[in-house]
Amino acid sequence: MNPIPTFLAAVGEDLALVWPDGVEHYLPLQTLRRLCPCAGCAGEGDFFGRVARPPQKPYTTESFQLRDTAPVGGYAVQLFWGDGHSDGFYPYEKLRAWGESPPALPKLSVSPLLPSL
Ligand SMILES: [Zn+2]
Repeated sequence: MNPIPTFLAAVGEDLALVWPDGVEHYLPLQTLRRLCPCAGCAGEGDFFGRVARPPQKPYTTESFQLRDTAPVGGYAVQLFWGDGHSDGFYPYEKLRAWGESPPALPKLSVSPLLPSL
């Protein structure tokens, strides 16, 4: 089955999705951004399946704000983030799976505000 949400929009800090079977999911925008599936964020597998993950760019507040969405070929949605990033296509199948069981997040590299002692 290739589910296509009947409703998809940012509600507060979540992406709200309603599926044809009536199930509703709320996925935190911050989670979605950190799971951005584009090659620049998630890395690209090479011929041998090794994934080269590029260094993570620092996020800003805008990175987790959703500006717009656009359906992609009936199987995915493109999310346009506040910091201008919009390379990631999020397959509906994946969004549904993430709604059913929250995904593991990649490690967030946070630079401390104060030097550690
Ligand atoms: Zn990305």
